Amino acid sequence: MMKWVYLFEEGRASMRNLLGGKGANLAEMTHLGLPIPHGFTISTEACMDYFKYDNQIREEIITQVFDALKKIEEYQNKKFGDNENPLLVSVRSGARASMPGMMDTVLNLGLNDIAVEGIAKKSGNRRFAYDSYRRFIQMFSDVVMGLEKSKFEHVLSKIKKEKGYEFDSELTELDLVEVVKEFKKLYLENIKSSFPQNPKEQLLFAIEAVFRSWNNDRAIFYRRLNDIPSEWGTAVNIQAMVFGNMGNTSGTGVAFTRNPATGKKELYGEYLINAQGEDVVAGIRTPSRITAMEQDLPDCYKEFIRLSNILENHYRDMQDMEFTIESGKLYFLQTRNGKRTAKAALEIACDMVEEGMITKEEAILRVEAKSLDQLLHPNFDEVALNEAVLLGCALPASPGAGTGRVYFNAKDAKDAHKRGEKVILVRHETSPEDIEGMHISEGILTVNGGMTSHAAVVARGMGTCCISGCKDLEINEETKVMTIKGYTIKEGDYISLDGTTGKFYLGFVKTNPAKIEGNFSKIMSWADEQRTMEIRTNADTVKDVMIAYDFGAQGIGLCRSEHMFFNENRLLPMRKMILSRNEEERVKALSELLEFQRLDYIQIYEVMKGLPVTIRLIDPPLHEFLPKEEKDFKILSQEMNISLEDIKNQCLNLEEVNPMMGHRGCRLCVTYPEIARMQARAIIEAAIIVNKKLNCNIIPEIMIPLVGELKEFSFVKKICDEEILKVFKEQEYHIAYKIGTMIEIPRAAVLADEIAKEAEFFSFGTNDLTQMSFGLSRDDAAKFLDAYYKNNIYDSDPFQRLDTHGVGKLIEMAIKLGRMSRPNIHLGICGEHGGDPSSIEFVNGLGLDYVSCSPYRVPIARLAAAQAAIKLKNK
Ligand code: PEP
Ligand code: MG
Repeated sequence: MMKWVYLFEEGRASMRNLLGGKGANLAEMTHLGLPIPHGFTISTEACMDYFKYDNQIREEIITQVFDALKKIEEYQNKKFGDNENPLLVSVRSGARASMPGMMDTVLNLGLNDIAVEGIAKKSGNRRFAYDSYRRFIQMFSDVVMGLEKSKFEHVLSKIKKEKGYEFDSELTELDLVEVVKEFKKLYLENIKSSFPQNPKEQLLFAIEAVFRSWNNDRAIFYRRLNDIPSEWGTAVNIQAMVFGNMGNTSGTGVAFTRNPATGKKELYGEYLINAQGEDVVAGIRTPSRITAMEQDLPDCYKEFIRLSNILENHYRDMQDMEFTIESGKLYFLQTRNGKRTAKAALEIACDMVEEGMITKEEAILRVEAKSLDQLLHPNFDEVALNEAVLLGCALPASPGAGTGRVYFNAKDAKDAHKRGEKVILVRHETSPEDIEGMHISEGILTVNGGMTSHAAVVARGMGTCCISGCKDLEINEETKVMTIKGYTIKEGDYISLDGTTGKFYLGFVKTNPAKIEGNFSKIMSWADEQRTMEIRTNADTVKDVMIAYDFGAQGIGLCRSEHMFFNENRLLPMRKMILSRNEEERVKALSELLEFQRLDYIQIYEVMKGLPVTIRLIDPPLHEFLPKEEKDFKILSQEMNISLEDIKNQCLNLEEVNPMMGHRGCRLCVTYPEIARMQARAIIEAAIIVNKKLNCNIIPEIMIPLVGELKEFSFVKKICDEEILKVFKEQEYHIAYKIGTMIEIPRAAVLADEIAKEAEFFSFGTNDLTQMSFGLSRDDAAKFLDAYYKNNIYDSDPFQRLDTHGVGKLIEMAIKLGRMSRPNIHLGICGEHGGDPSSIEFVNGLGLDYVSCSPYRVPIARLAAAQAAIKLKNK
């Protein structure tokens, strides 16, 4: 029989895929001899089995669960379901990758109307027993039955208000008996059955709920954001309860071995006296700093420091730990490698190399490539900040600057974002339901919660700035207004958050571009030593080229020449060229464009100082360039001396039903060879000028787009070669150049051996290759892909993360075929995937020479390429 359930002592950290991160680490800590309450893990395979068998937990799994539970009963000397000495357990999810706030937890499971009295008697603390019971009813109802938490909070607030209490800890034993009664009533009213009294039934319901939660909307969204496959499933951890709510020598907390916001080497965290786990993370009460424990419970504090050092040294990484103190005795409930900001990741990685804890290679792998994005974000302008009205100051939960319009719930924030607004999400506290709203926000501000609240942890993971625990802020969610310091801020008003200082300001505050400093360059230089692929950039303006060059681009992999014509004074000759009625008109318009093109290329070559530059011949989906407004039609009519009606008719004639598959790419040069002639001339003339001026050796790479057939490629190449020969003759000067193609039509991939006979290089245009392989419109797919994620048909957007299974196979085939005809063919990728770390890892494995990505993603690509090279080497 297959093994589905593992006692903690049967697992190890290396069994993460099977036991999930939490389960594997609980097992590892058990082996390390740390104080861990006994427990066991139901494997991730059991979760996938549950889905396979139509959402049923099979009998053999149930049997193994109750066998393991018997062992825990023996260890704890308690009995699950007993009335006098009941074993209570926690049920917690734990996927392979940590997904904070995505899955749910139930504590104190096993309690019922009779057992609560048993616990009261045994502990001599009836208040504690009922506090545990009311928490259990609320969590079970929320997590297992889907009954909103807020309904329970409402009842609790009402009772607290009647009694004049501020904190939950002021509730007396009798109050809590009353709360339990009210909670059960609420359950009955909403679920239409009584709160389940049978602990076995409770347990099975809870396990199922954890399994199910793998496929809730939040989990699916988080998986897509973090490249987590749907087949992984989640494990379930069942553990004997220890109680942080037993009085003032009990408590619970969360701590990191280093500061997760800055990376500083200091214990960082917070805890609450007389509370249970969820209170800290949920952010309902604002906890004390962990250092306060030194006074409150000095022995526990000393022990905590000792054990957290053991954990960091063992895992050789910064740890994020959850702990509970039950009547003066410390227990660890979880440890994992802590989530951190990019700044902290760089700091920690470099410090650990210096401390001799990890190697440089490990340091490179420790920094999440995508997270570098955070460092490239703007900061507030100092002058503007000094002049701004300070509204308040709270906890600097996640660094960075965010400015935008205030919205008070995730849905309104999302709607505003869709309208193109920049959004600041303001909440009492965030919960996992808010994840999509948080993701699109420039910043997050909460009234409740500390540095380890849901908002703080999730925002840090996303690199979004966040300020939490602003007690002075009053929010009225109904009227959508917030007040602070006498200021009233309505929905849609601007505020600005500085997540680095915790201060926030009225109105819009100007930001400045990011300054990159310190450890960033150190890690980047280590990465550059490791990677085997070059990093180029996709850039077509001098400004972008300069940014990319400063970020370390080693060449231009894609200069989309048509983008050079979006500028207003170039759009007109471009439109004239498109709308020309004959060759003469077209040549005239092209001669105007030639001047611009030559100048552009000169500037770009000069910035790149002899590094390779690939210029793609014009590839304009025509609809992007045609006039749409009356005033533009009028200008064209005057300039071209054609009646307004004729101009409009001509535009109408050029309209295509499916422009992405229409008259674009090399097809344009097949119909109008003079375009290729003009561009080839500009590219070469500019290179000659710069080579002479800078005494360098630019070898321009001319790239022909949207090729699907060798003859098509040869046709355009011949035109270019002829024109370039003319230039050489006119100038009595000769330079080397290359002509290659994009592989972006599946037919080109399939016939790559033929095309490589003439093409000197391939650049994979994975935007179009994805579009045309899937038959999915690049411009429209986002509208319906959500249904594909929800139904686990696609795990991620194939336009962002390369579909290695299908499109990847085409690339692999094209490389093989291409090399058969031209063994040294130069190979790169220039679709959006060139800046996506997981896609970079894939193409590194295929042996591409370079990836090309947008300027701000160049550092990400440098790091991702190094990580890919290290992983490949260590395979
Ligand atoms: C591509 O198709 O991947 C590509 C880079 O070209 P464009 O996005 O300009 O179509
Ligand atoms: Mg393309």
